[in-house]
Amino acid sequence: MITVQEHLSRIVQTVQRLPPIGLDLLDAQGCVLAQDVTSEVALPGLRNSAMDGYAVHAADLAAAGETAPVRLPVAGDIAAGSTRALSLAPGQGMRIMTGAPMPEGADAVVPVEHTDGGLTEVSVLARVSVGQHVREAGGDVAAGDLLMRQGTRLEPRQIALLAAVGTGEVRVTPRPRVVVISTGDELIEPGTRPGFGQVVDSNGLMLTAAVRALDCLPLRVGCVRDDASTFLSTIEGQLKHADAVITTGGVSMGAYDTVKEVLSRVAAMRFDKVAMQPGMPQGFGVLGDDQIPVFTLPGNPVSAMVSFEVFVAPALRLMAGRPQEETSMVTAVAAEDWTAPAGKVQYARVVLSRNDSGHLTGYTAAIAGLQGSHALGSMAAANALAVIPADVTSVRAGDQVSCHPLGPIQEAS
Ligand code: AMP
Ligand code: MG
Repeated sequence: MITVQEHLSRIVQTVQRLPPIGLDLLDAQGCVLAQDVTSEVALPGLRNSAMDGYAVHAADLAAAGETAPVRLPVAGDIAAGSTRALSLAPGQGMRIMTGAPMPEGADAVVPVEHTDGGLTEVSVLARVSVGQHVREAGGDVAAGDLLMRQGTRLEPRQIALLAAVGTGEVRVTPRPRVVVISTGDELIEPGTRPGFGQVVDSNGLMLTAAVRALDCLPLRVGCVRDDASTFLSTIEGQLKHADAVITTGGVSMGAYDTVKEVLSRVAAMRFDKVAMQPGMPQGFGVLGDDQIPVFTLPGNPVSAMVSFEVFVAPALRLMAGRPQEETSMVTAVAAEDWTAPAGKVQYARVVLSRNDSGHLTGYTAAIAGLQGSHALGSMAAANALAVIPADVTSVRAGDQVSCHPLGPIQEAS
């Protein structure tokens, strides 16, 4: 038996960040930059108005007030997108729209709300200070500025900035392409009601969805029979277009545990018992000329889910150039007593709720339901895994437990 940490260390030391590729900006959403990006342009590109109003010389309005309007002739009209080079003589105003270029000589903008909105002549009812409502060229980004560092994840806000400076394509670490293979003679395709002895391939859909939720690219291969040559040819066929492979089923001690039977002949694959519950039988290694990482997870759905969270997700994040962990553990108070196995880390499915009472904010963890590794109901109900160390055999109501969030945490009702 090896520890969770030993198995995880082996995985994270084996997987590598994928080589960079060029992608259209929008296709790179969720990826991390593989290089620093420097801006070749300034933002704003030109000095422009921050308001709809009138470009003026602030000094002309020194005497303006609610009861002392100052009248200025309106020398022109400037819309956003205007490319005319205009200049404003002292004693005049120009109607100007938000984003429109400031005329030469003007040093402030009076918002239209402080005027009568006149088209040939305008009455101004408030003073402005020099620079007011003017956006200076380069005030946001200067040409030559380091815009974003390598490793920055491209979320909508970062995409906006890159687009604004004219970027079309970016060099990023691509999303890992992850093949999902389910094995088992009992499996049938999702969308069918199971007959006697049949089990719907819920793992296949769960892991496909989990890969997608991590911003990686899942490729689901349907169910594969417990047959050595079928399994071998399937996995070999998939290696060509995969950055990683996840299989489920067939890795325990049963008579038809094909995955283990076939892959344990490969020197670069290793099968271990990991001191955890659920998820004890685990296999990991690399296959093929390209040394594609292969995770062979147990078939029980909860075991597969926990294994994905604990071993696969950190590896996929690293391959995508992201941190190994992206969410912090949450400390919660156990809402009830439960037992935990000696010598194994327990991943208990719990419902984590947030209690806000006065100035105290805390979380409670309640067992989500039946804890068997086959129990899909409690898995769906849970929003966290309470991680109970190997040397703890009982949790008492009121104990602090460390939880790995799986989804949004609700307020306690
Ligand atoms: P195995 O790891 O192949 O011994 O399977 C353990 C248990 O998980 C059995 O009850 C299987 O029917 C179930 N199981 C295996 N693969 C899947 C799957 N893809 N979807 C749902 N249940 C599965
Ligand atoms: Mg099986």
